[in-house]
Amino acid sequence: MKRIIKQLSALSLILILILMSCGAKTPSADPIDSETNTAPRPNILMILCDDLGYADVGFNGSTDIPTPHLDSLAATGTVCASGYVAHPFCGPSRAGLLTGRYPHEFGSQFNLPVNSDDLGGEGITLNETFISKVLQGAGYHTGIVGKWHLGGVDQYHPNVRGFDDFYGFLGGGHRYFPEQYRPIYERQKAEGRKVIDDYLKPLEHNGQPVRETEYITDALSREAVRFISDEEQRGEDPFFLYLAYNAPHSPLEAKEEDLQLFAHIKDKKRRTYAAMVYAVDRGVGQIVDALESTGQLDNTLIVFFSDNGGKLKLGANNTPLREGKGSTCEGGYRVPMMMHWPGVVPAGRRYEYPVSALDFYPTFASLAGAKIPTGKKVDGKNIWPSFINGTSAREGEVIYAMRHRPGYSDIGVRRDELKALKLSKDTWRLYNVMTDPGETTDISEQYPDELREMVRSVEQWSETHTEPLWYNPPELEQDWTDYDMGTFPGAFDILKSDKK
Ligand code: CA
Repeated sequence: MKRIIKQLSALSLILILILMSCGAKTPSADPIDSETNTAPRPNILMILCDDLGYADVGFNGSTDIPTPHLDSLAATGTVCASGYVAHPFCGPSRAGLLTGRYPHEFGSQFNLPVNSDDLGGEGITLNETFISKVLQGAGYHTGIVGKWHLGGVDQYHPNVRGFDDFYGFLGGGHRYFPEQYRPIYERQKAEGRKVIDDYLKPLEHNGQPVRETEYITDALSREAVRFISDEEQRGEDPFFLYLAYNAPHSPLEAKEEDLQLFAHIKDKKRRTYAAMVYAVDRGVGQIVDALESTGQLDNTLIVFFSDNGGKLKLGANNTPLREGKGSTCEGGYRVPMMMHWPGVVPAGRRYEYPVSALDFYPTFASLAGAKIPTGKKVDGKNIWPSFINGTSAREGEVIYAMRHRPGYSDIGVRRDELKALKLSKDTWRLYNVMTDPGETTDISEQYPDELREMVRSVEQWSETHTEPLWYNPPELEQDWTDYDMGTFPGAFDILKSDKK
């Protein structure tokens, strides 16, 4: 019987292949794939916040930070309730986002060393083609406004990695008030300092330093509006804009007029953080206005999310998720996320199935009719048909998070409604994060087989990892060797008795 089934399935596979090869002849040289070739190619606007808490937007239940413009997009778009990023902090999360791969597979497990442009000159390996390059190759006019954090020297510059236009800063963050950071920068420069902190350097436009005068969040919103409105530069081509706000990442610096709106919040950090998020929302409103007034809103996919969870010590709120930035608990890498595209993305829906930021690479490429280079490995998947239909894009498949600590690794594995979690040197736990997003009730004893499968899966994935190309903080390099961390000692032991 089994043999007959095998023969039958081999026959159907041949049939499918024949059908596929017939179908492939119809569009001939057209690289647009069959799922999307009838739709016009959308503009793609990807808005990223830095360290924004899960509950710090109205559409995820914030009661003390009004975000009316984001909420309006969410109400006329779809909220991704289980949107994950590839890593619980900045650099590796962004490396994953632009490559569509987990950063552990190409040596980018850690943030770039601080001030790397003045020191070691590190950057994300050129073996990885960024999504910007793929979309640029498909005729998109591509821009990035804001934080880069993927390599500050010329060979890793945004302009050589697929972005026609770059306005922003190359490091991992920036001070917000030019009138405050510029005098410090100019003094240090006059003193002849060889290394000046990234957070103080002038912003740049395509490699040329600019004399910015506005509060940085407002400046980035202004530049996004400029890019969107600049049709002369673009002609008939659609655009891809990656707007990477550094807000509300530290330092906590907000405009006085915004702070006054939150005078009722007693905690100073929370008050400042709230004012910073409010400034982002104001910018989003200006950007949506620009899209509307130039007649582009209806043909623009907007994706909004954060690069990792909120930092609790700096005033963020990830309720109902556990912990925050840096953690492999849900609060570390399950982020506020939503998508908007009138008439295409369902309005007023919450999509509860897992979405990974790694999915944007193949999903955008498909929507753009762009060809992903042969041999380019991508860990995410094109979620578009499932996302639009409201079905799971990865039933039975997993999303990982792994953070290396001194001597051990924290790990999260999401599969359907389940989440396996390993923290510190504790044993593995299992949670139903659909019903228990706060990861409070361990159900590993009820579901031992599921836990075992999920741990085996992450163990297999770990075999694809490469050694880090840099360490941050630098002391971790010694830990990496001392504890033989590349072999993940003890990480995949499920029970204490598993230990060899
Ligand atoms: Ca971040």
